[in-house]
Amino acid sequence: MSPRSKLAARRLILARVLARRCPQCGRGWIFQGYARVAPACKRCGLVFRREPGAQTGSMYLTAAASEIFAAALIFLFWWLFDWTPLVFVLATAPLVLAFCAAFLPVSQALWVGVEYATDLEGREPWVELRE
Ligand SMILES: [Zn+2]
Repeated sequence: MSPRSKLAARRLILARVLARRCPQCGRGWIFQGYARVAPACKRCGLVFRREPGAQTGSMYLTAAASEIFAAALIFLFWWLFDWTPLVFVLATAPLVLAFCAAFLPVSQALWVGVEYATDLEGREPWVELRE
């Protein structure tokens, strides 16, 4: 795979997973419910959940993004308002939890794409990127 086609493949995979579609065929859905990754693509059969713990990377991604969001929110509120620490916690905690819930499916889909791109570049026999 040439560097140019590698970049094009990564972009295609990223676009597909951000649309919550299968990274291989772009037609099947990654999720079977809210933040619940389907076992496999119903269109092409690509296995999304290969082993227990395969989504651990998405958990770390969600945690990191949530911490960055929380820090930015706390800094913004600290700058705008003169609140006590308790009010800070009461105001920011629900927003951070809502961000976590909203970002979790995004990070799960991104992680499916990362695993697929890794397999594609590793030339695994079950991988066949379809245009
Ligand atoms: Zn598929």
